[in-house]
Amino acid sequence: MDTAGYLRLKAELLVEGVRATTEALLEVGVHYKEQNHGLFGWDFEDHSGTYLPDDFVLPDGTIVQFRQNSRSPHLVDSQDGRLVLSSNGERACEIRWLPRPGFYEDLTSAGHRMATVGQIGGEDCLFFCYQNYCSHFARGRQCLFCNLVSTSDTYDSVIKKKGVDEIGEVTRAGFDDGAVNHVLLTGGCFKRETEMRLIERILSAMRDRTGRETIPGTILPSPARTPDEIGAYHASGIGAIGFSMEIWDDALYRAICPGKSDAMSHAEFVDSIVTAVDVFGAGNVYGVLVMGLEPRDTFLRGVRRLTEIGANVVPFVWSPNPGSRLAGHRAPSANWYVDTVLEAADIVHAAGLPSGTENHCFKCDGNSLLHDALRLGGVE
Ligand code: SF4
Repeated sequence: MDTAGYLRLKAELLVEGVRATTEALLEVGVHYKEQNHGLFGWDFEDHSGTYLPDDFVLPDGTIVQFRQNSRSPHLVDSQDGRLVLSSNGERACEIRWLPRPGFYEDLTSAGHRMATVGQIGGEDCLFFCYQNYCSHFARGRQCLFCNLVSTSDTYDSVIKKKGVDEIGEVTRAGFDDGAVNHVLLTGGCFKRETEMRLIERILSAMRDRTGRETIPGTILPSPARTPDEIGAYHASGIGAIGFSMEIWDDALYRAICPGKSDAMSHAEFVDSIVTAVDVFGAGNVYGVLVMGLEPRDTFLRGVRRLTEIGANVVPFVWSPNPGSRLAGHRAPSANWYVDTVLEAADIVHAAGLPSGTENHCFKCDGNSLLHDALRLGGVE
């Protein structure tokens, strides 16, 4: 199978989910990296009490998020000491789980297991949610695809409010471990001033602990609007900034993200991204979209506009996960995702943007297809 074939296989695995035999899962949580539910749950079913892998690797290096679905046609089994993926009973390829980071069981100075503070996403991205809270749920105005509250209630597996020092300690441990190349930071809902001050302290702790002037990675803060606000994030020492716009089409955005669109309009998002590109530089700003909840043409219009501005795009493949208001719905077909993301990759290639891979790469995401599609054109 070539890389284009693995792109199609990844799309199927994300859309249909996957399951694994007990034998295949034996070492997950021991030698292989398990899910820790740092923010959202992406499985099609809850699995409290069972360790499942966070993600896995296809033979060409493609990272795939593991989305548990006990009715999936895709099965991982252990055969003669190897992990083999089959689809509808036909052997597809060997896969491998990712190694469990050595620092996961280490304790922070506050006495917390490091895996409850930061978790590696994909192969090389250390993820921190500095506060697992979103006020939109209390008013019933959460985004329709979001299961933040139910994930937290079901698994209760991470510290909700992490200390600044322990985030710095886990960052150092992650980079020392050798597995981490990037960080990703986000943090629910905040008053803007409060969040900015907190980020300055977190980045200062990260820089002190690692000895780096700039931390390679991306921050996804609550919406920031003014040049001063965005400049403060840049001055904190993070390499890139992202804006979770979710949906490009304005009417659908307001319908799918009622609380978020009350707080920040589509136009304000775009203006902020224009400002962020001025501050961070082309390629170091991301528009983050959920792919599969709007028509192909509006999604691609968003990719075109964002890349014209100078922003890269991270489009997550929608999961109709339990606890979200869209639980039980179905995502578009794998073919729809592949056709659409290949056209999106053509748009990004044509724009000639810097790839931004020093802050976010294909190894960071098991739940997006665009980086993999860009790899077909030579962008690693
Ligand atoms: S803003 Fe939307 S996606 Fe983000 S945590 Fe709140 S409900 Fe979830």
